[in-house]
Amino acid sequence: LVIPNWKTFVTDMKYHFQQVEPLQDGENASYIPILKSADSEKWALSICSIDGQRVSLGHDQAYLFPHTLQSVSKPVTYAMALHREGEAFMEEWIDVEPAGRPFNTQDLDPETQRPFNASINSGAIMAAGILASGFSPAANWKDIVDNVRKTWYELCGNDLDIGFSDITFESEKETAYNNFAIAYNLKGRKGLPRNVDLHTMLDVYLGCCSIEITTEALSVAAATLANGGICPITGKEVFPASVVRTVLSEIMMCGMYNQAGHFAVEVGLPAKSGVSGALMVIVPNVFGFATFSPRLNTKGNSVRGVAFCRRLVDSYRVHVFETL
Ligand code: GLU
Repeated sequence: LVIPNWKTFVTDMKYHFQQVEPLQDGENASYIPILKSADSEKWALSICSIDGQRVSLGHDQAYLFPHTLQSVSKPVTYAMALHREGEAFMEEWIDVEPAGRPFNTQDLDPETQRPFNASINSGAIMAAGILASGFSPAANWKDIVDNVRKTWYELCGNDLDIGFSDITFESEKETAYNNFAIAYNLKGRKGLPRNVDLHTMLDVYLGCCSIEITTEALSVAAATLANGGICPITGKEVFPASVVRTVLSEIMMCGMYNQAGHFAVEVGLPAKSGVSGALMVIVPNVFGFATFSPRLNTKGNSVRGVAFCRRLVDSYRVHVFETL
């Protein structure tokens, strides 16, 4: 067993989970009604080890509450594109450098006109475009997003709770002026891969953000990434280890918005958060976990999620540089 003393571990995690619960700081995302009106009190944690030991915590089974992935979708869309196209093609269109800019910046690398990385919107929109460019022209955005959903389903150990929020998708589209601007900017500067349709690209991006998941399922996806791409529940290889290595390096640098640097120093684990309050964290070769709590700090990360991560590394030596 990769976590031999599972019972003690679970007791400790429960303690930290409860200690974090009273935190009331932060605000729900407010740019669309469904996020603004989400129950701010919801607090869920699920853990899955690479050998399939699992625990979930939260009042009223909050870990079974479906919420959207939002930006947590980005590393998986990127991984799918990378898996199909390879490093060289991806490098041509998306860099792997921290941006030091807000997630929704219009800025591109001034020399190469590429997005800085796949975790900011420009890079994630480009990754959606690359993914879409590999489908037949007859495929519409929904077919492509269904394909992405299928990959999430496999990452989560064939969890049937991977859904889609039409309401989120529609509201995202209504308010996506900045994302449209990013897409036109990409098209106007370097152009789009294989001249993919701009609207399909955006719909795929917004569709991936609107995929619904539970904290329990998300923890299995995190564990699959912690396990080099092999799902601990089904034993199936969802991504090759080389793809996972690149994606985890990328989110280690860029996955936590403009708090990514501090998170790397304080927590030292690859992680990706989303504006829904979701957070997915990978402890390479040991376990993955997910938290859900809608109130976000000023950087856009879940307040309780980040607080839990800090407590975890204070009590367990899981920071990747802890054992030097
Ligand atoms: N869907 C939103 C957007 O593209 C936010 C995604 C996120 O950062 O979680 O603007």
